[in-house]
Amino acid sequence: MNHDKRRISFEFFPPKTDAGVKRLLQTVQQLSVLAPDFVSVTFGAGGSTREGSYQVAAEIVRTTQLNVTPHVSCIGWSVSELRDMLACYKQAGIESIVALRGDAPDNDANATRAFEHANQLVEFVRAFGGFRISVACYPEFHPEAPSPSVDLQNFVRKVNAGADEAITQYFYNNDAYYSFVERVRRMGVTIPIVPGLMPLTDYAQVARFSRFCGAEIPQWIRRHMEDLEGDPQGQHALGIEIAVRQAEELLRNGAPGLHMYTLNRAEPTLRVFQQLGLARSHTQAEQYAELS
Ligand SMILES: Cc1cc2nc3c(=O)[nH]c(=O)nc-3n(C[C@H](O)[C@H](O)[C@H](O)COP(=O)(O)OP(=O)(O)OC[C@H]3O[C@@H](n4cnc5c(N)ncnc54)[C@H](O)[C@@H]3O)c2cc1C
Repeated sequence: MNHDKRRISFEFFPPKTDAGVKRLLQTVQQLSVLAPDFVSVTFGAGGSTREGSYQVAAEIVRTTQLNVTPHVSCIGWSVSELRDMLACYKQAGIESIVALRGDAPDNDANATRAFEHANQLVEFVRAFGGFRISVACYPEFHPEAPSPSVDLQNFVRKVNAGADEAITQYFYNNDAYYSFVERVRRMGVTIPIVPGLMPLTDYAQVARFSRFCGAEIPQWIRRHMEDLEGDPQGQHALGIEIAVRQAEELLRNGAPGLHMYTLNRAEPTLRVFQQLGLARSHTQAEQYAELS
């Protein structure tokens, strides 16, 4: 399978320690052989995570040839701080961002916010100029949305504010993605909607995330994973198998690319790409050989 026309991206989060940053940079190097269109770095509302996001993004720019796309959210700062950060990103040579509302730490209703919703942030970044803008979307709907139809309308508003691309929350039910894409196309959305994939290689961890982000793990997967409790290697292998099957089907049915939630690990993404046959270079083939 050739992925030259697909949009491939890998997501990382900023580690809390210098040793973690060092390890992450190795992970990024390992994954760079897959020639992603960009790598993204998540954002947290707390001051240290916010600085960490900038530092990691800048370090990846400094040490690789990759396009880096930092995530920026509305929470944890003022409009003028946000403007300063955009200026810093521009100065660092960054040309794209993921624009999000974000979530307040511990759901603190009084947390400082530059804006209430991501559509306002998109408008702001568009007016600031010079960035390609990705936004988030939810094939199984955002957990706070009062109804699917309201969530879809809010998504369309965000796209119309100036988004260039949408990246989905991870999901395990491809029909939810197809249905989402079909509905928003009928509502006039034409931008690429790239599915986000989270290989279930650490089932307990993903099951915890899924409880609050609204991404459902289907019963047949849960039952298989529960059956393999106490056998992390078995769960890992099943997680890869499911991700490969899911990605194959999505690409076959016209998905414009894949966004991998890497959890800062190289091996699951390398394995998935190996099994998908998305090889591009000799170096990559060598890296695969090391995996086997
Ligand atoms: C690809 C991806 C990357 C992410 N990266 C991060 C990250 O780095 N850091 C982080 O903190 N979180 C991240 N998140 C999580 C995200 O911040 C949360 O899901 C958050 O709760 C919603 O953000 P949003 O940008 O989708 O918000 P919005 O688009 O603002 O939507 C949030 C809710 O408000 C509703 N809504 C939207 N616009 C309006 C409006 N104008 N008026 C009324 N209601 C409205 C929507 O229906 C939805 O229920 C990411 C999610 C995804 C899918």
